[in-house]
Amino acid sequence: MKTLGLIGGMSWESTAEYYRLLNELTRERLGGLHSARLVLYSVDFATVERLQAEGRWTEAGELLAGAARSLEAAGADLLLICTNTMHKVADQVASAVSVPLLHLADATAAAVRTAGLRRVGLLGTAFTMEQDFYRGRLASSGGLDVLVPAAESRALVHRIIYDELCVGLVREESRAEFRRVIGELVAEGAEGVILGCTEIELLVHPADSPVPVFPTARLHAEAAITAALTE
Ligand code: GLU
Repeated sequence: MKTLGLIGGMSWESTAEYYRLLNELTRERLGGLHSARLVLYSVDFATVERLQAEGRWTEAGELLAGAARSLEAAGADLLLICTNTMHKVADQVASAVSVPLLHLADATAAAVRTAGLRRVGLLGTAFTMEQDFYRGRLASSGGLDVLVPAAESRALVHRIIYDELCVGLVREESRAEFRRVIGELVAEGAEGVILGCTEIELLVHPADSPVPVFPTARLHAEAAITAALTE
């Protein structure tokens, strides 16, 4: 089994979910007392969030590249950035190490294609929904047709992520708002919805959507375990 290197803490609420999923999936696939072999570098999210808000992406990339180097030195064979948003600096991180980085957008696009879908809604932070690093990759290398909510709904989703989900608040009213936004995407033709922020799946479940949802922390963890168990 390969050793996974997790760049986490963005937020730790979803990194805890990654840790649980990676271990559960390893037990499902190998049985008995097997658990995931991994190293975790968990950052202080307050620092990262400030750099995001101020548009200081190169500095944020340097921070994560340093984490990646530490993970490689600690024996990681394969790296995961445990957040969709920070894939904005994925190239900077990948070029700092010689081990591969398992890109979250690629794992997600593969799952959507396997489900036989092409036209999907995307929910995530404003960065993820509006910028090309993620949405564009789903379209160009993933072959997907990506819809995002209208501006007001995007702002609402972004606010719920940072003000609630990243600080451990899971509120019924916010689940209802997500249901409404998903309904809008479906009305526009979405055949599925990507939960493109690793905290959203702590709030939104398949029963909240009339079309299949694609939970990115779970999909990333599944792809990582498959890669870790492939020689
Ligand atoms: N975990 C979130 C994501 O998947 C948002 C937090 C962040 O900005 O990294 O995008």
